[in-house]
Amino acid sequence: MRKGWKQRAAAVAALLAGLALPLAGAHAQSVDYQAVVDRAHAKFKDNNEGANADYIPALDEVDPDLFAVVIVTRGGQVYAAGDADHRFSIQSVSKPFTAGLVMEDQGIDAIRDKIGVEPTGMPFNSIIAIEQDEARSRNPLVNAGAIAAVSMIKAKDARQRWQYIVDGYSEFAGEKLSLLEDVYVSEAETNYRNRAIAHLLYNYGRLYSEPLEATDVYTKQCSLGVSARQLGMMGATLANWGTNPATGRKVMRKEYVDELLAIMMMAGFYDEVGVWAYDAGLPAKTGVGGGIVAVVPGQMAIAAFSPRVNEAGNSIRAMLAIQHISEELNLSLFKSGKH
Ligand code: GLU
Repeated sequence: MRKGWKQRAAAVAALLAGLALPLAGAHAQSVDYQAVVDRAHAKFKDNNEGANADYIPALDEVDPDLFAVVIVTRGGQVYAAGDADHRFSIQSVSKPFTAGLVMEDQGIDAIRDKIGVEPTGMPFNSIIAIEQDEARSRNPLVNAGAIAAVSMIKAKDARQRWQYIVDGYSEFAGEKLSLLEDVYVSEAETNYRNRAIAHLLYNYGRLYSEPLEATDVYTKQCSLGVSARQLGMMGATLANWGTNPATGRKVMRKEYVDELLAIMMMAGFYDEVGVWAYDAGLPAKTGVGGGIVAVVPGQMAIAAFSPRVNEAGNSIRAMLAIQHISEELNLSLFKSGKH
């Protein structure tokens, strides 16, 4: 079983790595990225489908018309359109970054063994998914696996655990990030389902610190404020194989980024990941705050933000904008004629 997983992960990693160079070469010089983000922004700015997520009360208060589209290249050039400096709560877009920090600290097998790397095909906060399979947490990009990843951080208390996350994310972004206190308070007051998930995992031996502490730090992680520009830089650190393009600091080992992108490809888009792979063909992570980051390995990150989400919890404008850019620049990892 272990061998099968390694072979599969190696195959996806090889696909991602093999695509990087031709992509970088094809687009590095010739594309006017500012025009690309401007076009994507203009095309979808009047789309008013969906609604703010409201199960976290503070998210319902965010201006639904905000919209940003950003490209950050592997070299650190930033191209932004719209409200690219507005800070929103990162929510589930945080999940790959904590998984990355845990991989970096504890090795690639830690995530596979203690959480899992299989998509659930179910909503991000599914309890049925936990009950259905002995892996329980399933992967680090659903709530169960993300709370488990937080619990794996080596820390003596909640303060240290949170500090580890905020410092690590700031390294990914290349600048200091901080909490959106109002979102945190609102989510902490209403996160009963996540508390239940944490206790259930603990019951099954798949949570590795005290459940309420892990849930609280996870809630803070989701309430971290980022702008689309900052999120783009975090993604560009992954596109640049773990080294922040602006600071030059290595946040993650290159070979672990391969594996992280494989998990993002399989599980980054809630239960719409199949359609996303079909339409955009890029490893990505989405969040109910309206943010999405997609990574073009070895080339760039595309980040977008707009608060109105669909039934699955994906920002409609952000999704359409990234998909449009992927099509316009021929970025899907699976496009024919590329290999
Ligand atoms: N903090 C949110 C939750 O745990 C994150 C959900 C999401 O963005 O998918 O429900």
